[in-house]
Amino acid sequence: MTPAEYFTNPYLAAFRRVPPRGAGICLVCLRGARPTDAMCYSCKVTTRQVAFPAAQILPISFYEVPDQLWNVLRNYKDGRHPQVRLQLGTVLAATIGRFVNNHWSCISGLVGGEPTLVTTVPSTSGRPGLHPLVEAVRRVGILRPLYRDPLMLGGVPIQRLRATDQGFVSRDDLAGEDVLLVEDTFTSGARTQSAASALRRAGARAVGVVAVGRVIEPAHCDDCTRVWRYATAEQFQFDACSRCSQDVCSLA
Ligand SMILES: [Zn+2]
Ligand SMILES: [Zn+2]
Repeated sequence: MTPAEYFTNPYLAAFRRVPPRGAGICLVCLRGARPTDAMCYSCKVTTRQVAFPAAQILPISFYEVPDQLWNVLRNYKDGRHPQVRLQLGTVLAATIGRFVNNHWSCISGLVGGEPTLVTTVPSTSGRPGLHPLVEAVRRVGILRPLYRDPLMLGGVPIQRLRATDQGFVSRDDLAGEDVLLVEDTFTSGARTQSAASALRRAGARAVGVVAVGRVIEPAHCDDCTRVWRYATAEQFQFDACSRCSQDVCSLA
């Protein structure tokens, strides 16, 4: 058993399958969308608000509030006890590591080339010190040598459903870089799309996004209910992702 399996196997039941592209599935974030629409509501809004939105997010798992994955994604950074933060930080690093090692070619396909730079979205919470997500990403062997943090906060705060090209700015020229942007959670996409666009505006050739969790509200609408039913019908497996899944999926 690899260390990544050792730390993630106890959490397998916490992960939820993400469907491949198909009817009734958002092209960008893969949650439920109206069968007649290419994107879900929030992606329609946030992809229009920036110059260079990411065309597709690759979530490792869906989650709902409050489930076990939500607990991991919240408490690895905000848990009250250092011991809890340390333990969940290890679970997060192992999750990212196991996924990127299994799906490096899927990720390269998403980015449009093998990533030359790996980064994260700057914290907007004002937390001092190195962000726990940065620590987790840098614990992953394949990502560590590629990790840099060119993005800084721009002048305009990012709000839910409000992405902006003034939200982040790059301190470096990123000409020719193929960037993998790693996020812990994806909700409306405002932060992620603002960061993706800032990387491209700094010259990055391409940006692909892996998000550990994409939140779903199963009762929010029929499309959400359908995608959640897919996500929970079978056990999540680390050897399939939305891009390499053999499922033929139509939720329409
Ligand atoms: Zn979407
Ligand atoms: Zn894959």
